Amino acid sequence: MGEGKLKNYIAGRLVEPVGGQYLDDIDPATGEVYCHVPDSDERDVEQAVVAAEAAFPIWSHTPTANRSQILLKIADLIDANVERLARAECIDTGKPLSAARASDIPRAATNFRFFATAILHFHSESHAMDDVAVNYTLRQPRGVCGLITPWNFPLHLLTWKTAPALACGNTVVAKPSEITPMTAYLLSTLCQEAGLPAGVLNIVHGRGPKAGEAIVRHPKVTTISFTGGTVTGAAIAKIASPLLKKHSLELGGKNPNIIFADADMDEVVRESLRASFFNQGQVCLAGSRVFVEKSVYSTFIERFVSAAKKLTVGDPLEPGTDQGALASKAQLDKMLYYIQLARDEGGQIRCGGGPPASLPPRCKNGYFVSPTVITDLTVDCRVNREEIFGPVVTIMPFTTEEEVIGHANATEYGLSASVWTKDVGRALRLAGRINSGTVWVNCWLVRDLRVPFGGMKSSGVGREGGEEALRFFTEPKNVCIKVTPAIPPNDPRSDNKRQKKAS
Ligand code: NAD
Repeated sequence: MGEGKLKNYIAGRLVEPVGGQYLDDIDPATGEVYCHVPDSDERDVEQAVVAAEAAFPIWSHTPTANRSQILLKIADLIDANVERLARAECIDTGKPLSAARASDIPRAATNFRFFATAILHFHSESHAMDDVAVNYTLRQPRGVCGLITPWNFPLHLLTWKTAPALACGNTVVAKPSEITPMTAYLLSTLCQEAGLPAGVLNIVHGRGPKAGEAIVRHPKVTTISFTGGTVTGAAIAKIASPLLKKHSLELGGKNPNIIFADADMDEVVRESLRASFFNQGQVCLAGSRVFVEKSVYSTFIERFVSAAKKLTVGDPLEPGTDQGALASKAQLDKMLYYIQLARDEGGQIRCGGGPPASLPPRCKNGYFVSPTVITDLTVDCRVNREEIFGPVVTIMPFTTEEEVIGHANATEYGLSASVWTKDVGRALRLAGRINSGTVWVNCWLVRDLRVPFGGMKSSGVGREGGEEALRFFTEPKNVCIKVTPAIPPNDPRSDNKRQKKAS
């Protein structure tokens, strides 16, 4: 067991939820209780917002360099605690310890470091109007920001929002996923150690419809940044929009992975495996619909399925594990539902299709599904349109560029896409016509934190990352200064004239 009962982080202190209610947090690799997470309600949110509001005047006027220093200290503390945090993330999510150690936790430190330094270089615009006026833009913090995050990359995604919000001088009330709260709790202890002033960051644990919605509704919360499912995002927008709150929504995906015959097949198989099964396929950017040019379709299937079968599914704590547990029982049930639906829709299961045949005794009650590859489905069936968000991918053939562009755009989502080809012209044509926030050419999940990140259509509203995040978390204010007209030399008010008269 982990740390028993977790606490909320409000006004710099670790406190129990007002109602005294807790939820079980389950270790998905064993099905056993890992810890208990506060089931907070609007009273806890109220306390957190009051603390955040009280901290705002001082934090927003703290010199940028000082804010930056504190955020860098938090980054250093994350690095210093990588092993403890990675283990917690592994147990809470079911992801392999090796992945949490190599990716999730270092990325959380990077997020703090990136925005702690980005803010030092943030600049605003100036617009000069000939001899009339000069405008310049102030970018001021917006006040209390509500940040709501999911369970697939718990610390990574929480810090992806927290770091820019704080760097800009806002204060924050955050609600991590109730399914994976542990690293957010550990982060609160690191913030105390780093000397983050009380109330600047508040973390309220609990369920979405209770604690999450209370944050979205709170009149003093000016700004909402949300990452999670599309249905939840729409529900949040429905509350936030009429209250005229600024919001950013990073939502689901059903991303095409397009492979042309001229691509490097070794690299394509290796990277498509990653795009399909990294983090148990629970990645919003996963390349879950694979389209392969007809001439290499059977070769690709053979090689891809053979490689998928070789992935080791098992105890996330074991060093040799490629794929761990799914995050929850609900995720397991969802996978089994969609695999059955694929069968009903005429799909052929090429590998996987359910829990692995054998698991270590410790994991016998855990939530595991083997990498599952499905073929022979139509492009427009439900399995190919709805986000599954797990280790389940479909493969379909295509013949022409035009046809595959149509397939790529045939879902309500538009988050990301990958295109594999040696033909630069073709890559550019597809990149221009695929409706998604990101198009990767000959790669997948190559991330530069400076680029705009987000989705089109049902994959989201707005962009985060780099300057987009700094712009989102600030209010642009135009200051217009009139230019006083110059006085002509012969005008009686002119200094020259007056001087001459005097002499
Ligand atoms: P979710 O929408 O169920 O929950 C996300 C967060 O919202 C949780 O903290 C939850 O408690 C909270 N929440 C739920 N209902 C709420 C409500 N009514 N009001 C306020 N908050 C509420 O999503 P999830 O299952 O945790 O995560 C999986 C989803 O997240 C997938 O759809 C995935 O594609 C998406 N995701 C998107 C990105 C991206 O950057 N676009 C990144 C990661 C995950």
